[in-house]
Amino acid sequence: MINVTRPYLPDREKLNKCIDRIYETVWLTNNGPLVQELTARLQEYLGVENLLLISNGTSALQVAYKVLGISGHAITTPFSFVATTSSLVWEGIEPVFADINPETLCIDPSKIEEAITSKTTAIVPVHVFGNACDVEKIENIASKHRLKTVYDGAHAFGVKYKDRSLLSYGDAATLSFHATKLFHTIEGGAIIFKKKEDYEKARLMIKFGIDDTDSIVGLGINAKMNEFQAAMGLCVLDEMDIILKERAKLWHRYENELTKYVLIQKRTFQCTNNFSYFPVIFENEETMERMKKILNSAGIYPRRYFFPSLDSLEYLDVNSVQKKSDDISKKILCLPLYPGMSSLTQEQICSLIICNLENEMEE
Ligand SMILES: *Cc1c(COP(=O)(O)O)cnc(C)c1O
Repeated sequence: MINVTRPYLPDREKLNKCIDRIYETVWLTNNGPLVQELTARLQEYLGVENLLLISNGTSALQVAYKVLGISGHAITTPFSFVATTSSLVWEGIEPVFADINPETLCIDPSKIEEAITSKTTAIVPVHVFGNACDVEKIENIASKHRLKTVYDGAHAFGVKYKDRSLLSYGDAATLSFHATKLFHTIEGGAIIFKKKEDYEKARLMIKFGIDDTDSIVGLGINAKMNEFQAAMGLCVLDEMDIILKERAKLWHRYENELTKYVLIQKRTFQCTNNFSYFPVIFENEETMERMKKILNSAGIYPRRYFFPSLDSLEYLDVNSVQKKSDDISKKILCLPLYPGMSSLTQEQICSLIICNLENEMEE
């Protein structure tokens, strides 16, 4: 069975050595040495400051909203993984959707401006499939209307925009290090803050609001990363070059084979590619469904990602449909892409899609 992705397992010997360190110190969590080492190495690798490791990517979003004092309404994209929206709702913030640009698949800045009201306190855009949002326009809108910006950068690990880390934009940007992501710590995440003072607030907030002298200085939660997560992260980080090289090869082969037959995401100018996903957009939902069935019967399981458009979530009770997001979400599939996927499998996926689309055109 070929799935859309497969978690990356690093060299076992190396992981054993990292775990030996945990056994020697018997320090399992609470900002241990491996978490500290991973923090330093990630800041260097990504070219960012004020990076705080978190237990998972969804908690990273929630902590970021809390630290920045976001309340009322936040304008966000309907075309994302459910956690972007559910984290807002969980924090008592009402998501207000602004439609996407159907080419870049990221939130459309002009639609953000239209959605601003007196209740708006923040913008929560997503760098969809690692593609940069229009960060300059969003920054202008945010400063004009005095709004906070939290980028959900769950897909944007290592991406540079204009030679600078894409994660350095916004008051905060979050990452997910879930097992299925490009870089992972089994479960995990991070927040990158623009301001040192926000980072300091968050550092206490994720450990129950307890400071370094053991005083309870404010409301907190438990959102710490543990040493076993960090051990996995350190070992995966050592192998990022191999991971990226393999992904790039597969990504470019898909691009070469399929662009004549399907639409692919338009990459933002001056934004690097981390090859984390290969989404393809079919002509309509029927064609997408047919292709999915054909691939499934060959044991290949692409994923409908993202589906459904989040404005249609029942627990939200939103009345207006975001047309572009709704349309794209119904006809998009992410194709299998992960290190270790054989070229034979990829050939099979491409030829199944191409043959069937060609047959369809002839009919
Ligand atoms: C994976 C993902 C998340 C959630 O991250 P977890 O680490 O699984 O909690 C949030 N937003 C987006 C866009 C994601 O893809």
